[in-house]
Amino acid sequence: MNTISKRESAPFLAELENIYADMDAVYDRVARQYAFHCSGCEDNCCLTRFYHHTRAEYFYLRQGFSSLPPDMRKSLKKKAAEVLKKTQRAEEKGLSPRVMCPLNAENLCTLYRFRPMICRLHGMAHELHPPGRNTVYGPGCEAFTKQTEGKNYIPFDRTPFYIRLAKLESDLKQAIEIKEKIKMTVAEMIIHFYERNQI
Ligand code: SF4
Repeated sequence: MNTISKRESAPFLAELENIYADMDAVYDRVARQYAFHCSGCEDNCCLTRFYHHTRAEYFYLRQGFSSLPPDMRKSLKKKAAEVLKKTQRAEEKGLSPRVMCPLNAENLCTLYRFRPMICRLHGMAHELHPPGRNTVYGPGCEAFTKQTEGKNYIPFDRTPFYIRLAKLESDLKQAIEIKEKIKMTVAEMIIHFYERNQI
């Protein structure tokens, strides 16, 4: 993966922070309207193998990771390697992996401020308006379904955030002159930071 200096990445990461702030605000507003609370559920979404698809998020997570004390980074690197091993073992057995994200520490995200988009949006019922196709509705997680039983759907449209992030990613790819897409879990990103000497 082509990389980018801290100075060059600054405007892109500032825009990513704006997008995150806006999505957090809409998510919080809709969650409040439902009186939905995401805390300490058994079906922890940090056990889900989320893939992240943008370099912008990769570089932002890297920024957060670099700001951690060296001992903590070392221990997270070890945890990330264990996650990859456990994931591989599960796959070899034909199971679908349920392995805790290396950044989850006692049900809190170690890099909460820097967490990727899907970690921010997951859980709540939502809609998406793909261009030229029918609207897609997503149901929300189990805890959400239980907590909101009997309540009407409150519109939560992910489309504007996906569009803004796609535009940011396209600008960033142009700036670093790269075309390939990425698809990485948080554990893979952490290992990748080291493999590419980005930490
Ligand atoms: S990055 Fe944070 S919020 Fe996302 S899965 Fe990992 S621990 Fe959970």
